[in-house]
Amino acid sequence: MITRNALIYLSRQEGLKDFATRFRPFKQLTTRFVAGETIDETIHFIREINAEGCSASFDHLNESVTSAAEASKEVAEYLNILAKIDETGIRSNVSIKLSQFGLTLDPELAYKNARRVVDEAHRRGNFVRVDMEDSKVTQVTIDLFKRLREEFSLDDVGIVLQSYLRRTYEDAQQLVKLPARIRICKGAYNEPPEVAFPDKKDVDENYIRVMQLLLSSGIYHGIATHDPKMIEATINFAGRAGIGKEAFEFQMLFGVRRDLQRQLARDGYNMRVYVPYGKHWYPYFMRRLAERPANIWFVMKNLLKG
Ligand SMILES: Cc1cc2nc3c(=O)[nH]c(=O)nc-3n(C[C@H](O)[C@H](O)[C@H](O)COP(=O)(O)OP(=O)(O)OC[C@H]3O[C@@H](n4cnc5c(N)ncnc54)[C@H](O)[C@@H]3O)c2cc1C
Repeated sequence: MITRNALIYLSRQEGLKDFATRFRPFKQLTTRFVAGETIDETIHFIREINAEGCSASFDHLNESVTSAAEASKEVAEYLNILAKIDETGIRSNVSIKLSQFGLTLDPELAYKNARRVVDEAHRRGNFVRVDMEDSKVTQVTIDLFKRLREEFSLDDVGIVLQSYLRRTYEDAQQLVKLPARIRICKGAYNEPPEVAFPDKKDVDENYIRVMQLLLSSGIYHGIATHDPKMIEATINFAGRAGIGKEAFEFQMLFGVRRDLQRQLARDGYNMRVYVPYGKHWYPYFMRRLAERPANIWFVMKNLLKG
């Protein structure tokens, strides 16, 4: 049986990535989780999402930046996204990964690049969410985010924490004091047991503890999950604590549980859909397969159909 770990391992294999991105039938399957290759294709889907009462977070996929010049192109892409959001009037903020701005080359370069995007978002009254990547970069991501927060406001830039990490509850306690807007998710990478809870039960328990801490802080946070148990726990906690629906938002990924996305929006909750696009979809796509290995059958079936 193909395991979650094996799929995450495959998500990092450059050779497979090159093959998969050139293999047309495989590429066609990505439309399940990836909106397209261009900003305009993505805008088409975000309009549909907006029409269903949900907002969006625009994400350009590219985690494998290997030069300062490439990182600079990513900045240009995001400045363009922010301009297009304004031009078209779609309801969307943006999500970025520091690795796409050069984090593994030089953290200072990533900071300067992220700063340019946050500055532009600030100028346009938009918001930048800094995604969280694997645990090797958790600390540096938090450190660079704190520097951004010194310069920009709570409503300009926010961060992501992952409930599978043992350190996350403490990070959340520190960050709400800044204050900071946080997206809590379970976490999508392969992590060793020293840093992450190996059991799903512990990941879920930690998710609920962090969610309660966030909701009690009075700051507008993002509760990112497709797990009905986490959603129910959030709704129940908010109800018990007298926290209004307008005080937080649920977040889900493009192509996952669209029924639930619509339902929550209809029930009056703020619902944001994370919408990725771009040519470098391979690692993102493989992580989505890893979250639900049943998706592999969907891929196999469609590949065999030709
Ligand atoms: C808006 C958003 C932003 C995110 N940002 C980050 C980030 O910055 N860093 C990071 O590490 N991770 C991020 N993630 C991914 C996250 O960490 C999880 O890997 C992912 O959300 C699956 O966890 P879950 O909470 O849905 O619960 P799970 O326990 O994994 O799944 C619960 C149920 O949801 C459904 N489901 C979940 N995933 C899928 C899927 N791929 N296909 C079909 N059904 C599915 C299934 O019904 C499953 O039984 C983000 C997720 C969301 C929704």
